[in-house]
Amino acid sequence: MTATVATLGFPRIGPRRELKFALEKYWSGKSTEAELQDAASGLRTAAWARQKALGADWLPSNDFSLYDHVLDTSVMLGAIPDRYGAGAGEADLATYFAMARGTTATDDGCGQAHASLTACEMTKWFDTNYHYMVPELVAGQKLTLNGSKIVDEYREARAQGFETRPVLLGPVTWLSLAKGRDVDPFDFLDEVLGLYSVILGHLGHAGAEWVQIDEPVLVLDLDERQRKALTRAYAKLTRCGVKLMLATYFGGLEDNLTFAASLPVAGLHIDLVRAPDQLDRVLKAAPRSLLLSLGVIDGRNVWRSDLQRILDRVEPIAAGRDIVLAPSCSLLHVPVDLALEGRIDDEVKQWLAFAVQKIEELAILKRALNEGRASVAVELAASAQAAANRLTSARIHDANVSTRVAAATPAMRERHSAYETRALAQAEVLGLPAFPTTTIGSFPQTAEVRHARAEHNRGHLDDAAYQQFLREETARAIRWQEEVGLDMLVHGEFERNDMVQYFGEQLSGFAFTVNGWVQSYGSRCVRPPILYGDVSRPDPMTVEWWRYAQSLTGKPVKGMLTGPVTILNWSFVRDDQPREASCRQIAFAIRAEVLDLEAAGCKAIQIDEAALREGLPLRKRDWQQYLDWAVDCFRLSAAGVGDATQIHTHMCYSEFNDILPSIGAMDTDVISIETARSQMELLEGFARYRYPSAIGPGVYDIHAPRVPSGEEMVQLMRLAQQHLRPEQLWVNPDCGLKTRRWEEVKPAIEAMVEAARTLRVEAMAAA
Ligand code: GLN
Ligand code: ZN
Repeated sequence: MTATVATLGFPRIGPRRELKFALEKYWSGKSTEAELQDAASGLRTAAWARQKALGADWLPSNDFSLYDHVLDTSVMLGAIPDRYGAGAGEADLATYFAMARGTTATDDGCGQAHASLTACEMTKWFDTNYHYMVPELVAGQKLTLNGSKIVDEYREARAQGFETRPVLLGPVTWLSLAKGRDVDPFDFLDEVLGLYSVILGHLGHAGAEWVQIDEPVLVLDLDERQRKALTRAYAKLTRCGVKLMLATYFGGLEDNLTFAASLPVAGLHIDLVRAPDQLDRVLKAAPRSLLLSLGVIDGRNVWRSDLQRILDRVEPIAAGRDIVLAPSCSLLHVPVDLALEGRIDDEVKQWLAFAVQKIEELAILKRALNEGRASVAVELAASAQAAANRLTSARIHDANVSTRVAAATPAMRERHSAYETRALAQAEVLGLPAFPTTTIGSFPQTAEVRHARAEHNRGHLDDAAYQQFLREETARAIRWQEEVGLDMLVHGEFERNDMVQYFGEQLSGFAFTVNGWVQSYGSRCVRPPILYGDVSRPDPMTVEWWRYAQSLTGKPVKGMLTGPVTILNWSFVRDDQPREASCRQIAFAIRAEVLDLEAAGCKAIQIDEAALREGLPLRKRDWQQYLDWAVDCFRLSAAGVGDATQIHTHMCYSEFNDILPSIGAMDTDVISIETARSQMELLEGFARYRYPSAIGPGVYDIHAPRVPSGEEMVQLMRLAQQHLRPEQLWVNPDCGLKTRRWEEVKPAIEAMVEAARTLRVEAMAAA
């Protein structure tokens, strides 16, 4: 029996973000479409050649995208909203990018704005940090096959001598992700299946023997309609003359397992990293004729595998049937190549594997299965050595940390008094007016700020000069906030590169890459910190900045921290202990910082949990368990302070209804949330839940350059008062202001302060 190696997808951005730079050049008009396409084709060729050289037998094509593979699928099906005016025919590149990014309004110089198109909505791809463009469908829409990207890329590879297995997003996952305006997307099922049949026919005609069809919805809770659609889809699509490898990933099939294994496809890929236990059940349920693709290497994380352990599991299977070895999912979610890292030291490096290294690992496994373990004895020993070293390394295991975490008592999660009592104590210390005004923390990261940081990183600006620069920015921000009349000030976060990285760099247990980029959306890439070891805080991280800012004003300055759950969710985290154990360690580090801030005299401390919601597991059944430990970690970080110290949190999203009890359980004194775009609707939920403490419903949508008027903000706050008691309300923007320009921020905040004054007068009159 033979084992082969497949990849389900390779990073598209290129080893050094070549795609990003090619896109930006094109968007700014500095290159032509042909030049962009050349760059893209160069990246595809390099990816195929690389994967083949590393030992992959099944190479993916159409895993590349100029922006997003879900958008590619929508365009392929002609699901192009009318507003882009593409008509039934070909959607050109301009239409594609208009859907992806919108078009900016042009001003005719007389203040007359010309129509600008909004982009399609963007949201997170399952539980990853990759964002896709949400497909849109309207009643009566006519879908048509559009473009031949997938066939072209298959042919392109073939012409270069690469036989590939094209990757196609499955119809049922596409429909499940789609938003119907006045229509159920599943009404389009037959039409969509018709188009998929044509595409598969074209691929077969072009020479493709296999097609990988991705249906990650199979790891979710499915409803009857989705199951029926899957049955119908695969009954039809298997008759198109190509063999289908049905790919499932990001979790186990669980209750969908028997169903999935019975679909009439030629192959099934399963995720054995997230759901190792499903292997036995799949083996039982899968007919011999079904080619199994085993996702044994983690496509979602950066750790090197213990190859012998994997072999122990797959050897008995490979003795009895052909198998494909693969990463658990597309390698889109990990950085390209560890060999490009100079900043990570060798000890940590030996524990890591990026996309390239993961394919190398698969190739070793393949040889071990086909030619015997002895043929790769050296490689297997090295892998085992790294795993053993990770178990005991002092870089990872810090007894002080485990002792501290183990000693956590229930009392450490509890504030001294209930909110009502705390609120009185805080009112006395802070002396704030009704409808207090504040901001979320950051002020514009201007070109000068970014330039100074870059110069400092390059060693062109020494520490003292850089610190001096940051102090001046901070002082200017404090002065301006006093002038404009804000009630609770912030220092402005000028010293922070990123709200997670800034803390990770000061905590032990985190490593940072120079080239470890992962696509977030389109041309945007992020370099998540790598949390490899026990977390502790050698020194205070923010106290000096707070102290300096507070020394400049008599008004209260908020301390500003990123919360443990957000630091966890935006990092690559350890796979040698549960996420919650890592989170608890971070919580202790933040708790120490909170207490140091309080000891320094800080009266209000904001602990941002921007990413709490996005950590929700894919299956609803697992939600509560996650929420329980997430809330517990937040409380551990926050609850050490006295009654008079006000704990704030900030969350930048607006879906709370299904997690309100957990938000309440965080027991914060003030929460600021995103509401400007939803007209305060979500406050209804807070009211129904009888949310006890204070809320700052964002009145200024900072995601757009537009400066709202004071009158609009007053209106929004009047709406807020339909749901909440006036004394519960704060007045603040939706989120931090770092992406805005001072020219926008200044008038908007002036208007906001003015709005609060109006509200106070109205409240007096009503009393
Ligand atoms: N304090 C952070 C800021 O103002 C919060 C950012 C966020 O929630 N994304 O930038
Ligand atoms: Zn935010």
